[in-house]
Amino acid sequence: MRLHEYQAKEVFADAGIPTPASQLASDVDGVVDAADEIGYPVAVKAQVHVGGRGKAGGIKLVENSEEAREAADSILGMDLKGYHVDQVLVEEAVDFTNELYVGITMDRGEGKPVAMVSTKGGVNIEEVAEEDPDAIAREHIDPSFGMHPYQARKAVYDAGVDRAVARDVSSILKTLYDLWESKDGSDVEINPLMITDDDEVIAADAVMNVDEDALFRHPDLEEMEEEAAGGDELERKADEYDFDYVRLSGNVGIIGNGAGLVMTTLDLVDHYGGEPANFLDVGGGAKAERIANALDMVFSDENVDAVVFNIFGGITRGDEVARGINEALEAFDEIPKPVVVRLAGTNWEEGMEILNEDLVTVEQTLEDAVERTVEYAEEVNEQ
Ligand code: GDP
Ligand code: MN
Repeated sequence: MRLHEYQAKEVFADAGIPTPASQLASDVDGVVDAADEIGYPVAVKAQVHVGGRGKAGGIKLVENSEEAREAADSILGMDLKGYHVDQVLVEEAVDFTNELYVGITMDRGEGKPVAMVSTKGGVNIEEVAEEDPDAIAREHIDPSFGMHPYQARKAVYDAGVDRAVARDVSSILKTLYDLWESKDGSDVEINPLMITDDDEVIAADAVMNVDEDALFRHPDLEEMEEEAAGGDELERKADEYDFDYVRLSGNVGIIGNGAGLVMTTLDLVDHYGGEPANFLDVGGGAKAERIANALDMVFSDENVDAVVFNIFGGITRGDEVARGINEALEAFDEIPKPVVVRLAGTNWEEGMEILNEDLVTVEQTLEDAVERTVEYAEEVNEQ
């Protein structure tokens, strides 16, 4: 689960990390009022689960009420990489001289968390890692001991952070690690951590991803998840139905069982020139009701033009899945979008025979199914 920037900043601020004064707003007047109250210049920032918002037009710096109104008008309601913007964070702009990156993530290769620090903050850290890996200092942490203060100081020193702010940056890094551990974080980062003229250190952005399976231990974070899902109908439904679901920006709806199978389907859609609208894993035991719920999800995404089912029968048999698909589709007077099905695994042949071909297109191979779906999506799109 990923927190919104404003939520992550709340968690960071509670732990003592300096963040700029800010207010959340969801309509234009609210943005102007908040900006007037905070005092100019302010940054107006889209609250959606994507990075690179600045480049995509989701962050604007404004100098007065009129500009705040214009920024609110253009950002609220915009489509940012497939996400609808319902809320913005109105935030005191920071006058910075330097931007750092600090973060904690899991190094799966080493099987240990790793703290990372770089003076090349403010840009995508994956790009820095690729182009200039030496610009990132890394320090592995033994989780049974936690992060020693000297490890934080070492990472900050190795990265070449200005001595005047090294102590503050080290203490923020240590706090981030403690949060990563106590909140069951997976990635926790500040990019950029801004340094001002008079050597103040401020978290201008905040990312916090936490382990979904540990959420029950953190009622405060669970509440934040509900609050965040409240804005997006599809994410709320995914929560309610208990699906692994990620909304993407294309128009080909994808339903599968098992994360690997769904990922493969996504890649194939891309291969055949289509664009995936979502990742949706219905999980094991895909009985009729879950199939119906999955269809409800993709059909309620207005961007979806066609849907492909990629189901591998295991414990859930192909005939059960086929009955589920028939049952779910029979409930419609008119099926809103073309559906293509490919079944494999246990009882796939029985399943194929059961599928009602008045309602769905059946394909024998995954390649054919995906290719056909991409064609349908193009046709629907052209109408
Ligand atoms: P992201 O692009 O989605 O990661 O959003 P960030 O919050 O990291 O903002 C991207 C960039 O916008 C930063 O690196 C800054 O250059 C700029 N920016 C964001 N907030 C402020 C601010 O308060 N003051 C100034 N001057 N620039 C800001
Ligand atoms: Mn950022």
